[in-house]
Amino acid sequence: MSRRINRVATVSVHTSPLDQPGTGDAGGMNVYIVEVAKRLAVRGIEVDIFTRATSRALPPVTELAPGVLVRNVVAGPFEELDKTELPRHLCGFTSGVLRAEASYDPGHYDLLHTHYWLSGQAGWAAKQRWGVPLVHSMHTMAKVKNAALAADDKPEPEERVLGEEQVARSADRLVANTAKETRELIDLYGAAPSRVTAVSPGVDLSMFRPESPLLARGTGLLAHRTGPARRRLGLPRDAYVLLFVGRIQPLKAPDVLLRAAARMLADDPSLWERLVVAVVGGPSGSGRRKPEGLQRLAAELGLSGVVRFEPPSPQPVLADWYRAADVTVVPSHNESFGLVAVESQACGTPVVASAVGGLCTAVDDGESGVLISGHDPADYARVLRRLDAEPGLHARLARGAVRHAQGFGWDATVDRLVEVYTGAMDQLSAAAARPPAQTARSASTLAAEVSA
Ligand code: UDP
Repeated sequence: MSRRINRVATVSVHTSPLDQPGTGDAGGMNVYIVEVAKRLAVRGIEVDIFTRATSRALPPVTELAPGVLVRNVVAGPFEELDKTELPRHLCGFTSGVLRAEASYDPGHYDLLHTHYWLSGQAGWAAKQRWGVPLVHSMHTMAKVKNAALAADDKPEPEERVLGEEQVARSADRLVANTAKETRELIDLYGAAPSRVTAVSPGVDLSMFRPESPLLARGTGLLAHRTGPARRRLGLPRDAYVLLFVGRIQPLKAPDVLLRAAARMLADDPSLWERLVVAVVGGPSGSGRRKPEGLQRLAAELGLSGVVRFEPPSPQPVLADWYRAADVTVVPSHNESFGLVAVESQACGTPVVASAVGGLCTAVDDGESGVLISGHDPADYARVLRRLDAEPGLHARLARGAVRHAQGFGWDATVDRLVEVYTGAMDQLSAAAARPPAQTARSASTLAAEVSA
């Protein structure tokens, strides 16, 4: 019989679950870690989340929810650091994690779940010391990202590629967001197929839901335009509202939406009366080097009166934005999944997205939204004008969006993760029960691991 999981050590070196998602390094991964941890705790599995302390004011331990602790490990300066600076503080971070565990009786944690390659490196060391399985989620991968860079983006460094390869080899289980990511882990990173499992991330379906009961039942027609979300956000009833939500960086390509809007206005000047483009989120990644860049582009395109820039917002406010919008646009160059796309659909708002990465799973092309190949603003403009001109089509996609999103609840994600955790623990126990001759690694295997 499988051993019970009592406590999981989750590692998130470069971004804290306490940070507001939507700017800097905080995004979908933060949401993922928090939502999963809370639900594991409800099932009686305690979670300690290790992250790097970015301020002296942070206590060593904070309770995020009953059964979920955030451990702020002191490693490097008390300030936010660029991800490229973090590898030099990994040793200090890892030793902080090991010290925290050493203050408990042996066997305190049953398993490690690490997120992003930097955390995977810390987990690689901890797993050997604690004798527990390492489950790792990449979230994004350098080789995939570098193959689809925006024109003004910088490639990910070679040290990240090497670090990811090491983690892919040393983790007992790799959790991919989609079947596509599973293939990438196997084909690009040499992961053993038996160790990779696709587990779809989720959406809080109680937070993200349509405001119109009609739409929730699948019969509404532009009902969102008269709802309270538009009133709360000060958006006119007749406005055609296009929404971008997320971290503002070249990879997410918000510029494609702005250029598409400019084209729509050039093609149909009557839209000046009612087009609103809302951009919710803050600068991130290489976008931090020129945080005003998108505002400047809006001004250059003559869109200053059309575009509304909103700061990173908590999810209840975000839900209002999705409900108030006619279409959410996700023109990313790459997305490992794309939570924003599913959140929007769960609120009954169709998505127009680029046909890349996880967005091909997150959006049901032609049913819950439209996927576009490439990043030509003219293609986005054409689809967005059609959705404005054909309310029947919009309503059909809105109904499909609500339906499609129902397949992505966090409870299903946690069910699958618990299976992955249990499988990894069972495998380790089985290996420990085998006669020593079979468990002892040969010197050559060990040498290969160390040099990996
Ligand atoms: N988000 C948020 N407030 C904002 C913007 C984004 O809470 O102002 C959240 C959003 O709800 C989503 C996550 O940030 O859950 C972004 O996830 P996604 O997978 O779309 O992109 P990532 O950040 O992982 O690249």
